[in-house]
Amino acid sequence: MEGPAGPHPCRLQGGDVPEQREPLERRTTDDSVDYRSDTCDSCHCDTTQGEVKVKSKRFGRGAVESGLTHECGVFGAIGTGEWPTQIDVAQVICLGLVALQHRGQESAGIVTSEGKSARTFNTHKGMGLINNIFNDEAMKKLKGNLGIGHTRYSTSAASEEVNCQPFVVHTAHGALAVAHNGELVNCSSLRKMVLGRGVGLSTHSDSELITQALCLNPPEGETNGPDWPARINHLMRLAPLSYSLVIMLKDKIYAVRDPYGNRPLCLGKILPLGSSFLMNGCAKNGMEERAEGWVVSSESCGFLSIGARYVREVLPGEIVEMSRHGIRTVDVVERPPAKQQAFCIFEYVYFARADSIFEGQMVYSARLQCGRMLARESPVDADIVSSVPESGTAAAHGYARQSGIPFMEVLCKNRYVGRTFIQPSTRLRQLGVAKKFGALSENVRGKRIVLIDDSIVRGNTIGPIIKLLRDAGAAEVHIRIASPPLKYPCYMGINIPTREELIANKMDSYKLAEHVGADSLEYLSVEGLVSAIHYNMKATPSDGVGGHCTACLTGDYPGGLPEDVDW
Ligand code: SF4
Repeated sequence: MEGPAGPHPCRLQGGDVPEQREPLERRTTDDSVDYRSDTCDSCHCDTTQGEVKVKSKRFGRGAVESGLTHECGVFGAIGTGEWPTQIDVAQVICLGLVALQHRGQESAGIVTSEGKSARTFNTHKGMGLINNIFNDEAMKKLKGNLGIGHTRYSTSAASEEVNCQPFVVHTAHGALAVAHNGELVNCSSLRKMVLGRGVGLSTHSDSELITQALCLNPPEGETNGPDWPARINHLMRLAPLSYSLVIMLKDKIYAVRDPYGNRPLCLGKILPLGSSFLMNGCAKNGMEERAEGWVVSSESCGFLSIGARYVREVLPGEIVEMSRHGIRTVDVVERPPAKQQAFCIFEYVYFARADSIFEGQMVYSARLQCGRMLARESPVDADIVSSVPESGTAAAHGYARQSGIPFMEVLCKNRYVGRTFIQPSTRLRQLGVAKKFGALSENVRGKRIVLIDDSIVRGNTIGPIIKLLRDAGAAEVHIRIASPPLKYPCYMGINIPTREELIANKMDSYKLAEHVGADSLEYLSVEGLVSAIHYNMKATPSDGVGGHCTACLTGDYPGGLPEDVDW
């Protein structure tokens, strides 16, 4: 079949896009550089049938053997005052990424800038866990007064080094690095627009698309060089969902959260040694104290380990500029009229570390409250309450406190066996449960147990756990799930298995109890989950903030259904 008669979009030359002639930097772990290919393969365009189509980026959805998996964690740090800063920026970022490792374990990268030259960034990226990628030699190369980092789990592009972030491009105005958490809901139209402006794309990643879209001049034009806040604003109006971004230029970092606030992003302040690092979740906390530097992160859980204090969240639609002079809000992009904030409720249920703070409350407290609500909605006569460690534990304590039934551990977790989702088949996954858990038989024997888990996805792991407990002598096992049934796909950066694979689409809770061998099984209701999350929040949706996305539970998508649904 012949290709298209006209020029291939990769080779179109857009006169108003000077950046597209610059090479796209791709550094490998040994820091070698190669250049963007101009072949069809490199941009993933389909030129069959004489027309140019953009393949769906969701070709892999559901094909991955996973439960619920994240796309990424992002982190940035900058020293304030005189440069060179006394802060070891690369080490701060590396430790920050270690604290975000639960958000992605496939690859990671750090890019730093010394703040002097717009042409040179120091970069190190690689596949695997943070501790394996960033050895002493790599860290020595990452000199700088500012930098950004990323840890990745892929849902929208292949797991390979070319997709490692942060992405670096050299524009006509200097180097630009971008790290992204989330997934662009309108990726296809943005991709077409960027290709139509003559910019080639060398990967299938949203993050490269965002990076290249930032290189486009905003429609209002620019008079005195690039107006980066205006470019970011333009991108946010083109793509309102879903991302948290850290964008680094020579001497600045921009922290950006999408107008719906779907993905988390928060700010912290690096304080002099000897300061109080107490995190109390108050938005004005510590603003008056002198900062040695500022950090931005997907979650606040790593701040104490780097000597930083949580200050506040980046607000939905906010663009925060971080420089040697401090932080300031440079713009806020509004949501479309009548649209609510839509922070991912599964950050509370499952993804985030329990010591992170969202919306003025610790994730642990929200999970505890979910357990209390579950006990009110679905009580049961039992001798002990227990959990599937570790993410079900806070909810189990909440259930125990509300019901008055004592909490007792019944499962012992082998910390050296990986998460079960990385295993390649149902049979191996079931064997994996046996390898992952042991039963504390003295606590179990003869007991009626309420076992709390945070969620059920495929329903493959809970059955073997129940069998383990029965084999250890449990008299009854009642399952209580601290979230509602998961029924719909996520288009905002979370990998959810196919409709057919989700157990809640195959059977109700009564049948599921039978299927997994439980004496009873109940879920928390959607209303119960939402009210538990609101219970300790400092703001409420009636204040115009604090709305949550529950689309995978209800099918009600915050920005409407995306353009290329193929779940
Ligand atoms: S659909 Fe579910 S997982 Fe995705 S953003 Fe919404 S609440 Fe989170």
